[in-house]
Amino acid sequence: LKISDLVDESYKRIGRVEDKVQAFLTLDEEQARQTAKTLDEKLADGSKQGLLFGMPIGLKDNIVTKGLRTTCASKILENFDPIYDATVVQKLQQAETVTIGKLNMDEFAMGSSNENSGFKMTRNPWDLDRVPGGSSGGSAASVAAGEVLFSLGSDTGGSIRQPAAFCGVVGMKPTYGRVSRFGLVAFASSLDQIGPVTRTVEDNAYLLQAISGLDPMDSTSANVDVPSFVSNLTGDVKGLKIAVPKEYLGEGVNERVRQSVLDALKVLESLGAVWEEVSLPHSKYALAAYYLLSSSEASANLARFDGVRYGYRTPDAESLIDLYKKTRAEGFGDEVKRRIMLGTFALSSGYYDAYYKKAQKVRTLIKKDFEDVFEKYDVIVGPTTPTPAFKIGENIDDPLTMYANDILTIPVNLAGVPGISIPCGFDGGLPLGLQIIGKHFDEATVYRVAHAFE
Ligand code: GLN
Repeated sequence: LKISDLVDESYKRIGRVEDKVQAFLTLDEEQARQTAKTLDEKLADGSKQGLLFGMPIGLKDNIVTKGLRTTCASKILENFDPIYDATVVQKLQQAETVTIGKLNMDEFAMGSSNENSGFKMTRNPWDLDRVPGGSSGGSAASVAAGEVLFSLGSDTGGSIRQPAAFCGVVGMKPTYGRVSRFGLVAFASSLDQIGPVTRTVEDNAYLLQAISGLDPMDSTSANVDVPSFVSNLTGDVKGLKIAVPKEYLGEGVNERVRQSVLDALKVLESLGAVWEEVSLPHSKYALAAYYLLSSSEASANLARFDGVRYGYRTPDAESLIDLYKKTRAEGFGDEVKRRIMLGTFALSSGYYDAYYKKAQKVRTLIKKDFEDVFEKYDVIVGPTTPTPAFKIGENIDDPLTMYANDILTIPVNLAGVPGISIPCGFDGGLPLGLQIIGKHFDEATVYRVAHAFE
């Protein structure tokens, strides 16, 4: 097998399905074919190969790539060509993957359906009238549609796991600090993590292996050993203690979703694991705390898009203030503006203590809920989402219902722990996801449990 053929297959598949799925914002075909050629020469002379040698990969469009357009699906970055590569991109180069293109997302990763993209709507390959999830909708849809083998997404409040569940693929949000955020366009810096989206758990473990580790360019990346995730895929879950939060199977979770989780637990039981019901009592405050904290951080992070330093600049400004105002009014979409306003308000003097500070306290309590459970249990298991993929347009005018979609994934980000979504049955022909959550930096156990289903 030649890498050029593999890359060719990828673009052929894109040629066949992309007008329906619309997962990509930018294709990098010329460069990809060039890379493939170089790798084929290495293949011929038998020199040492990288961990993911020749694997075609897609990257969410908030991961900066040198010379390759990076838009965050925002008009404000419509023509932005970065001058450096994100650390994960450099690591992929060491692993010798081939970048096929950049993937659609909700603008600045704010959304759960890809309907907030400033450019186009990615569709769910299982049902083109439905959303692929978000914000990493392109990352999940491209893998599900067979356009690429692997992709990278980012997860601030469910954005890898929810689309993975909706598209029937495997998506991992690593422990906060496991993967460098250098070169990930910031949404909410204390929550953002890059992670792998793949077809299988094994592929996922390989991809996380390739991108993990301490990075001097990101002070929040952790100085913690990266174990071999792949050698942990033993299939052995005997004696493992699983916690199932009652809040994760309660009200609002659809019956098929609940049943599919109970079926998965039976499988784990038959393999020698034991499970018990537990409580994460502060989960009910997670959504409120998340939207305050993430919007606050976003309002600060997005201040840099001022029409001077990056991307779009309004053509008709009369003064500097006017330049800022018009550039941002014309460049940002509605959801981004909504978050900036909410965040600016929550951080403003007189309101900071009542909203931002209080949300930080709630975050500490949520983290403690997880730590308490992990004193006695190895992993937490539950659904990834309360329902399967919804119809395009169904929730668009109702931000609160849209936000509620992430109710089961967001606590994981607030606690900073790792969580994976793996395929777990169907509801009316639409895939469902099983979420497996682990202790800080214990992705190895999460993968081991997830792999038991393969
Ligand atoms: N849907 C959530 C939001 O809109 C999560 C986004 C994310 O994880 N990037 O904020």
